[in-house]
Amino acid sequence: MQVSENFLSGDAKEALSSDMASRYSLEIDGKEAYGGAKFSEEVLHTTEKLVARLYGSRYAEVRPIGGHIASEIVLLSLVSRKDNVLSIPESNGGYTGYEGGYLPQMLGFKNYHIPYDNATQEIRLDKLEKLMQVTSPTLLVLGQSFFVRHYDLKAIREICDRHGTKLAYDGSHVMGLIAGKAFQKDVLDYCDVLFGSTHKSFFGPQGGIILTNDEDIYDTMSRNITWRSMDNFHPSRVAALGVATEEMIRSGEKYASLVASNSHSLGKELNDNGIGVRFSPWFSETHQILIDPQSLSKSGLDFRTFSERLEENGIITDREGRVGTAEISRYGLNNMHEIAELILKVFRGESVKDRVKEMLSNMSLKY
Ligand SMILES: *Cc1c(COP(=O)(O)O)cnc(C)c1O
Repeated sequence: MQVSENFLSGDAKEALSSDMASRYSLEIDGKEAYGGAKFSEEVLHTTEKLVARLYGSRYAEVRPIGGHIASEIVLLSLVSRKDNVLSIPESNGGYTGYEGGYLPQMLGFKNYHIPYDNATQEIRLDKLEKLMQVTSPTLLVLGQSFFVRHYDLKAIREICDRHGTKLAYDGSHVMGLIAGKAFQKDVLDYCDVLFGSTHKSFFGPQGGIILTNDEDIYDTMSRNITWRSMDNFHPSRVAALGVATEEMIRSGEKYASLVASNSHSLGKELNDNGIGVRFSPWFSETHQILIDPQSLSKSGLDFRTFSERLEENGIITDREGRVGTAEISRYGLNNMHEIAELILKVFRGESVKDRVKEMLSNMSLKY
């Protein structure tokens, strides 16, 4: 129940651990630079087509080896040194990489925080407009690591258009939900670029993808990959991504809608029965729910000690209060009353180790 992880199917694992895992592959001006790479290049282009088909985009870039690298490529391509960029602050669940000392310092731009309402999990559009007037940003990056609610993309696009600002969406956490049309399925109608990890709610191998309908952006990004952001793109990983994308095309919609409904139900079950979950009564629209730390501290627990206690019982979460439903949904689990009961028992100090072991031994991949 780790929000940043998922389960790789047997077929995807086979591709990932194939002989390609130790091979090089690179095209220069459309020609292979290495002998023996014909099929690796074919796998690359097949995967690009599959991913573009899945997201309904004109272009798909599948070489980035992670969501962070995908982000770096997008920023390198859309932002110049000394430009201003807006992103959601880490204190509101935004990604740490956009904070001053990381990507902004590396790439020489200045990051400003998008005004955000913690209580409603919404961007404050009136304040955003004012900040845009003052900073004239080149790029606004949406997306969070603690991510439970959609954005008003239409309104944000209109504000961006008024200020000549490009709009990017870091969907690292929600790529699988977007692919399965359960969350912000119209991102590419409003955003210039959608990018993110392929292993969080998207059940692929660890890696990153970038999608766009804009030819100029795509060409610029292509130039910013080889020898700038990376060299080898890990052909076996791309093969595994192709396999996972086929699986997502096949059953992504059922998977993603189960993920979203499981999150809401789990949030409600826990919140009704003793572990506070933030944002009642809707709790979450994604694959993660956020535990209210105050409800833990009353029992002398914090995120870390509670997560450690869960881990002793075979339930894996992060140490930051997020609980994920992507992986259990991939297994087809839909009885959140039962899952909540296990978590609540651990919270009260009971052991559920044997019950969890038994459940795990009966589980098999559904989607
Ligand atoms: C996880 C995450 C990243 C980094 O992704 P990696 O695949 O680990 O490189 C970037 N942005 C956001 C919003 C994330 O949550």
